[in-house]
Amino acid sequence: MTRFEGKVAIVTGSSSGIGRATALLFAQEGAKVTITGRNTERLEETRQHILKSGVPEDHVLSVVADLAKDEDQDKLINETIYTFGHIDILVNNAGTAFVDAHGRVGLDQDVSDYDKVMQINLRSVVTLTQKAKEHLIKTRGEIVNVSSVAGGQQAMPDMLYYAMSKSALDQFTRSTSIALIAHGVRVNSVSPGAVITGIDEAMGMPAGSFEKMAKFWESKKECLPNGRVGQPDDIANIIAFLADRKLSSYIIGQTIVADGGSSLVMGMHAHDMMEILKQ
Ligand code: NDP
Repeated sequence: MTRFEGKVAIVTGSSSGIGRATALLFAQEGAKVTITGRNTERLEETRQHILKSGVPEDHVLSVVADLAKDEDQDKLINETIYTFGHIDILVNNAGTAFVDAHGRVGLDQDVSDYDKVMQINLRSVVTLTQKAKEHLIKTRGEIVNVSSVAGGQQAMPDMLYYAMSKSALDQFTRSTSIALIAHGVRVNSVSPGAVITGIDEAMGMPAGSFEKMAKFWESKKECLPNGRVGQPDDIANIIAFLADRKLSSYIIGQTIVADGGSSLVMGMHAHDMMEILKQ
């Protein structure tokens, strides 16, 4: 028996990147999965990946939905219940950031960018969780939110709105975990560092931008102490661990950081103390 047999998982943002890898992993491990995103072509690519791995067709439901729209969120929940009968796992993974058309970053970006980022990275997680709650209480289910190390203690001046959305998401994870564990539902999250996905294009950067930055970061120990950028599977495996009650039942309201060590390094540590003293 596979570990998610009999379980139903909704994975938001599964038309690309981390969400795609997560949906594939859940399906391969026996879950019935609802995959979702706005881009129909990419969503179909995810479905094909899953089917090619040997998963039966009736284990995968595709729902095209814009999570910024309330009625699309209802559609996502209702079609999942209609098709699979219940919901055991909700992965709030969809998220984004923007570089605006003028190349502005941080506080120079228009407040409309702030609204767009908050809408998808935070508000949609709140409302989808509200809508899924009654179903997850029935199954004593699991929620895994996908945050970011950007929401941590360090400053993120260039991606200010994104970082703010993820900090707030971490508080949402902590607080909802206490509210919902009273009903048997666990809430946890994962905070990835740099992971190669489609997020650079989604941010409005030229294709290949992330690969270019990854090469730079991989060569600098103050950026990536482990010397390599993450892959979607690195995060999907953690999401599956947090959704697997047999393995992680005692973890409530926590965030697992998976970032190659990057968030632990201070600029000062990048320089050799003994070399400085010799100067
Ligand atoms: P991708 O851009 O590859 O995937 C993002 C997914 O979110 C897509 O499937 C996209 O679907 C979906 N999405 C975005 N906006 C909407 C919307 N309005 N309605 C419905 N779906 C939407 O990025 P990643 O896989 O990298 O990102 C996944 C999560 O991981 C995000 O929360 C991100 O913040 C987080 N993360 C990523 C890191 C990285 O380095 N890649 C680092 C830290 C955190 P579609 O376009 O079809 O609508």
